[in-house]
Amino acid sequence: ATALVWFRNDLRLADNPALQAALDGGYTPVPVYIHAPSEHGEWAPGAASNAWLHRSLDALSGTLEERGSRLRLFVGPSLDTLETLVAATGAEAVFWNRRYEPALEQRDTRIKKALRQQGLHVESFNSALLLEPWTVSTKQGTPFRVFTPFWKAALAQWRIPACEAAPASLPSSDAGPAGVSLDALKLAPALDWDRAFWTHWQPGEAGAEDALEAFVEGALHAYADDRDRPDRIGTSRLSPHLHFGEIAAWRVVHTLEESRRAGTAAHIDTAIKELGWREFAHHLLHHFPETPASNFNPRFDGFDWTPPSRADLDAWRAGRTGVPIVDAGLRELWTTGWMHNRVRMIVGSYLTKHMRVHWRHGAEWFWDTLVDADLASNTLGWQWVAGTGADAAPYFRVFNPVTQAEKFDPDGAYIARWVPELAALPVPARSAPWRFPELLRDCAPDYPTHPIVDLAKGRDAALEAYRRQRERA
Ligand code: FAD
Repeated sequence: ATALVWFRNDLRLADNPALQAALDGGYTPVPVYIHAPSEHGEWAPGAASNAWLHRSLDALSGTLEERGSRLRLFVGPSLDTLETLVAATGAEAVFWNRRYEPALEQRDTRIKKALRQQGLHVESFNSALLLEPWTVSTKQGTPFRVFTPFWKAALAQWRIPACEAAPASLPSSDAGPAGVSLDALKLAPALDWDRAFWTHWQPGEAGAEDALEAFVEGALHAYADDRDRPDRIGTSRLSPHLHFGEIAAWRVVHTLEESRRAGTAAHIDTAIKELGWREFAHHLLHHFPETPASNFNPRFDGFDWTPPSRADLDAWRAGRTGVPIVDAGLRELWTTGWMHNRVRMIVGSYLTKHMRVHWRHGAEWFWDTLVDADLASNTLGWQWVAGTGADAAPYFRVFNPVTQAEKFDPDGAYIARWVPELAALPVPARSAPWRFPELLRDCAPDYPTHPIVDLAKGRDAALEAYRRQRERA
């Protein structure tokens, strides 16, 4: 008998419960991927995500073929495609791993019901999380809204699965349609603006394993100290691999635990706690499905955001705000599809506080440009930065981008790398070049002479808007 294994954001063969269920049930798995962006509701994957997905699907096709199987690609709708495949292959079962985005949860529930009504054996599994969102709750049975108690409860109850190697070979079936070519999905950019991405990344399961190994051998040894340093490789850079399910979060935890010894314990605990934020993000998205579009904290609903001018928004997006650490981050994002977490917070703070632009504009830009764009983590990140979220930085905590740069990029190396026109400035001038107008004119005549929003004025105006909002609330 055959079973459809519907691949989604679980683009790997190791630790893949849906694939494993097909094999354990004695089925010949028919691996399928269905491209159906309109089923993601308002959050169809962005351009950088699609560029990554193209390569990740290519990698998955390759590893399936090495094992005697083959990935069949289709363009949706998903239910119609699955029904056609069931009829053509004679499949008796359909297996997949769960997703937690609200539109996809609803879609999957509908599909499961429809296929079961047709007498099929349909099962879904957890492949993405350490603990699924509904398995952790407060003593009152309500969802958590604060990270620390959430994480305490999660650690007390998690039983994470053992790791399973990728099957060495796979039975294969030729029945049914072969599907379309990868190019027919039109995921790769027509213009190769993503060219520079691939010197930084290797999408796919092998790339994910290499990234984990590099982390455990390298940055992990100083993670707790270096994770806030954008000028160093201080973090794992696993986020796109985790988003696309090229590696299981529990494999990351097991691998970190295996390297636990005197000297690494604090770093490992910190790294696992960061994975906890990913879990918390999914917990919140599942329980508060409206939060990608609306404030978690409704007191901000009438907040006096400034409608951004096209020019200001373009300057922020392009990394031309005149604030070097902000510009460095946005240019790193544009060039590599990724931005360091500390800098995500700094660029977000500048947008939502100094520029007082609604966080939704930032979230949408990140959605389109990040290779790790993830509805749960992006929503949590932006609402945290803007002060509108669950357990967020309070709105009145306005990051000073100059002191942030001095603290976390003390040699100005990150700024010099991503804003190379400032590299000729002495280190103290790199974080606030407008204070050195002559140097700026001589060394970097094309760089803005002043920030688009003055730091002191922007901060005061933000705090004033916050005060008005509190008076109203
Ligand atoms: P590491 O420090 O090595 O952490 C390991 C893993 O833990 C990460 O790969 C990630 O899966 C998880 N993680 C770490 N920090 C966080 C966090 N704060 N929230 C959720 N998960 C976390 N992360 C995304 O994966 N997708 C997003 O779309 C996203 N948008 C963000 C937007 C804003 C405004 C902010 C402030 C943060 C956002 N983050 C997002 C979280 C964080 O910046 C990235 O996960 C992190 O920079 C990825 O780099 P890394 O893999 O080297 O992280």
